[in-house]
Amino acid sequence: MEKRRRERYPMSEIASGKREMVDVAIVGAGPMGLVTALMCARAGLKVAIYERQGDFSASPAWNGTGVLAPDCEADVADATIVDLGRRSLDLWPTLIPGFTLNGALVLGNRRQPTALDDYSSFVLNYEWADEERIAALEPSLAGIYNRGMYFPQAAHADPRVLFTGLKEVLEAAGIRIRFDWIGTIDGLQAERIVDTRGLGARDRFPELRAVTAEMAQVRSHKIELNRPIRLLHNRHALYVTPRGQGIYVIGATTVDDDRSGVSVRSAGELMTHAVSLLPAFADAEVVELRSGLMPVLMNGVPKVVVGDRIIAVNGLYRYGWMVAPAIAEDLLRVIYTQATKVIHASRPMRH
Ligand SMILES: Cc1cc2nc3c(=O)[nH]c(=O)nc-3n(C[C@H](O)[C@H](O)[C@H](O)COP(=O)(O)OP(=O)(O)OC[C@H]3O[C@@H](n4cnc5c(N)ncnc54)[C@H](O)[C@@H]3O)c2cc1C
Repeated sequence: MEKRRRERYPMSEIASGKREMVDVAIVGAGPMGLVTALMCARAGLKVAIYERQGDFSASPAWNGTGVLAPDCEADVADATIVDLGRRSLDLWPTLIPGFTLNGALVLGNRRQPTALDDYSSFVLNYEWADEERIAALEPSLAGIYNRGMYFPQAAHADPRVLFTGLKEVLEAAGIRIRFDWIGTIDGLQAERIVDTRGLGARDRFPELRAVTAEMAQVRSHKIELNRPIRLLHNRHALYVTPRGQGIYVIGATTVDDDRSGVSVRSAGELMTHAVSLLPAFADAEVVELRSGLMPVLMNGVPKVVVGDRIIAVNGLYRYGWMVAPAIAEDLLRVIYTQATKVIHASRPMRH
């Protein structure tokens, strides 16, 4: 890499400090950019991060629900995403703290008794849970559900805690995030550039589209849930996830357009969902309604395009936190081997 750098820029300019050369410049400080930066730094590469906005709140991940449950998503997600998610669950604890690895619980709607059986034909790595097991896992649900599926390999986290944790670890490694950056990618002084601009990368991915995701936060000190819970009663894959101190996140509904804000319909769906899961949510206090625009490619699967100097990653859809570490690990391999190919193309669903 050092040799290629010298070929591209004369030593005199680098030595005189006119060019602040790095091995890898990351453009975009969403989950994909930050995790890639950290993995590159840990591999001994000199890294810089460039973010157009003044803080992390421009990323949809700021308003994420923070569910990392790849096995539970196998009914709605491509097998590639499930595999990336499983690998990432092993990688996250090596990067930052802040995750609760407590599994996830999937429950059926009592009015659709076959829903769980239908769902079970799409998913792997679960244990059936009877009424007693459900009550032991989630005392607040005791006596309400007599059958469910427990997925041990699932985690949850507060995305804002993850952003802060990543920033701290990066700063400790001497990596500064240049917020409010208005430069051009081609002008960056870097051996390799990783473009993780999400929806800002429509110039590179013309097929990129925005999908709105919405979530609600409610507070109740009368309810105590310990893990993400998905109730199979809604057209969306909706989870109710504990954030601590009586806060619960409900989401996310997804709407295939790029409007901002949460619609009345979605707000109603989110609240109805929580009350359907556990009637005690009817008395909870609504704390926050938030939405974000997620970057989605044609088949809903992330894509990595490897060029001579620029590697572009996009289309992480509703799985940015869930899959970023595994994709970053693959990027690092590409950077070291100087491979030139597209990886992570969609594979047929294996179910
Ligand atoms: C309500 C909601 C719930 C969600 N729940 C989950 C969940 O439970 N689990 C999960 O895994 N995911 C979840 N997601 C999805 C997750 O937020 C996305 O998958 C993720 O944000 C994609 O990450 P990214 O880094 O690829 O892109 P982004 O997060 O979009 O980051 C791109 C960054 O690039 C910056 N940028 C754009 N243009 C430029 C430019 N020209 N120069 C410099 N910087 C630029 C942007 O400002 C942004 O900060 C949720 C999203 C929402 C909205």
